[in-house]
Amino acid sequence: MDPRVTFRLYVTIGLAVALIGALWALADGSAGSGPAGPAGQVKADPKGVEVTMPQAATSLPSVQLHATPASNPCAQTPVQQALASGGDDAVVAAFGGGAAFRAAVAAGNAPCIDLSDPNRDWVVVNKARPLNPLTFAPTSFGDPALSVSGAGSLRSDAAHALDQLSAASDAAGAGSIALASGYRSYETQVQTYSGQIATYGQAQGDALSARPGHSEHQTGLAADVVSCAGGCGDIDSFGGTAAGAWAAENGWQYGFIVRYVAGQTPVTGYDPEPWHLRYVGVPLATAYHDGGFTTLEQFFALAAAPAYLG
Ligand SMILES: [Zn+2]
Repeated sequence: MDPRVTFRLYVTIGLAVALIGALWALADGSAGSGPAGPAGQVKADPKGVEVTMPQAATSLPSVQLHATPASNPCAQTPVQQALASGGDDAVVAAFGGGAAFRAAVAAGNAPCIDLSDPNRDWVVVNKARPLNPLTFAPTSFGDPALSVSGAGSLRSDAAHALDQLSAASDAAGAGSIALASGYRSYETQVQTYSGQIATYGQAQGDALSARPGHSEHQTGLAADVVSCAGGCGDIDSFGGTAAGAWAAENGWQYGFIVRYVAGQTPVTGYDPEPWHLRYVGVPLATAYHDGGFTTLEQFFALAAAPAYLG
């Protein structure tokens, strides 16, 4: 038998025995000052009422703490090969799928997975996790088939996925989805941010614009989108459109999650932005959806990032 399975079996048996002991104790306690069970010790509490101490609590089987710990997926050849070949989906598959990948990373059991690597689908950028390097730029770019003027590009695989998302939304009767703002360079963000700060001051500027090097848009994986049913709307109205509702419900099938949702501002550091879709790839988006997650921070068991660190 796999040593890990053996270990879990012992722990399970131990927990079961402990549970039975606890239930025994409850049952005895509810009997008040009744006679002690055959195996119980009898003690007097300060009020003079006899309390029965459960015997089971002193007879647990020992847990084998020296048992082999869970193996490191990063030590496995398929994971190493997938990491070397560069395909993010292949890496996730080598871990055993999105849920297994997430579980290993969240448990701190995947040292080969760097959540700060901006070239990977699993990168997490927030106010406490700037891009590394700060001036990072993607190496591949693609233009979605449908975009508004000045929208820019996305990383090529994200652009292709957005095309599929838009076509599926249209086919479902919710209207197509166009890119309104994609990749933004570090230099662009410097200009945008400094302009906001100059006009509105530090606090208001921080609320309106991400600091340079802290915007998810710099990864090329973030897409601010609009609904195009007839004419195209703007990003602020997207959440109230049929396409917005469709994307929130079905975006995961194309590798996208809604990154900033209502109720999670203390975790993400951003007010809800139904228009801001983040590409994480289909395997991870599927695990995110199936697990009921609403923030990438919680998905990977990272600290909340309500504010900048400095
Ligand atoms: Zn955005």
